[in-house]
Amino acid sequence: MDDRRGRRLPFNGHLHTNLSPDADVPIDAYARQAVELGIPEIAITDHVDFDPRAPAYAFTTFEERRRVVREAARRWEPLGLVIRFGVELTYERAWDEAVRHHLRQHSYDFVIGSVHIGADSPYISGRLEGWIVGKSLPEIVEPYFTEVEAAARSELFDVIGHIDFVKRFLAPHITAADLAAAPELIEPVLVALVETGTALEINTSGLRQPPEETYPSAATVARYQALGGDRVTVGSDAHLAGQFAWALSDGYAAAESVGLKPSLEPRLTRV
Ligand SMILES: [Zn+2]
Ligand SMILES: [Zn+2]
Repeated sequence: MDDRRGRRLPFNGHLHTNLSPDADVPIDAYARQAVELGIPEIAITDHVDFDPRAPAYAFTTFEERRRVVREAARRWEPLGLVIRFGVELTYERAWDEAVRHHLRQHSYDFVIGSVHIGADSPYISGRLEGWIVGKSLPEIVEPYFTEVEAAARSELFDVIGHIDFVKRFLAPHITAADLAAAPELIEPVLVALVETGTALEINTSGLRQPPEETYPSAATVARYQALGGDRVTVGSDAHLAGQFAWALSDGYAAAESVGLKPSLEPRLTRV
C-alpha cells in the first residue's frame, strides 16, 4: 500500500485514540509518528455523544481522557511535540442544551462539533434505500445540512467537523459529483460558519472512504473562502494507527490553493 502519510506539516487536528469506542490506538502510536513525520502539533479529539443510545455516551470520563492526554503531552514535549486536549462532540439540535452544559463544566484546548449518523437517522444503511425513493436531492440532504448549519449557529465550537460527511452514507445512490453539481445546498452552512467565525474543518478521511474526496471538497473550501471565511483546520480523523496523517497534505493543499493558512487556534469565546 502506498504510504500517503503527510510529512512536515504544521498539525493534525482530528485524531481518535482507544478512548473512543470506534478506535483502538494508544496515544503514543500517534505521537511517535508525529515526531517521525515532522508534524509538531496534534489534537486528540475523542468522541463524546449526548444520546444515551450512542456509543460514546458514557464510554469513558472527561477526567480519564484529560489525564491520558496531559500525561502524554508531558512525555512528548521534550521531543518537540505539542499535544492538545481536544474533543469531538456530536451535535444535533436535540442535544444543544446538553452540549452547552458539558462545555460549561469542562475545559478543552480545542473543540470540534460534528453531526453524525445517529440511531434515528434516515441515512442508516437499510433505511436509506427506501427513504430516498421519490425525494429530490435538496430533500435528501436537508436533514443533515440543517443540523450542521445549526451546529455552526450554536457558536459552541471552535470548528465544525466533516460538514458534508453525509456523502459517505449516500454513496453510491448519490455521488460526490451529484453534490458538486448542486453547491447551493451547502451554501447556508458556509454562510453560518463565516457569520459566526467558526472554523471549517478539512477532513481527509473522505479520501479513504467511498466519496474519495475530502470533507468538504476543495471546491467547497474555495467557496467558503470566497464568502469571506478565513479559519480552517485540517485533520485525518484517524481511527487506526496507519491512518495517522493519511492524505493530510491533500487537506493542506485544498486550503493553500485559495490562500488559507490552517490554524488550530481556538475561538476566543465558546459558551
Ligand atoms: Zn466525526
Ligand atoms: Zn472523528
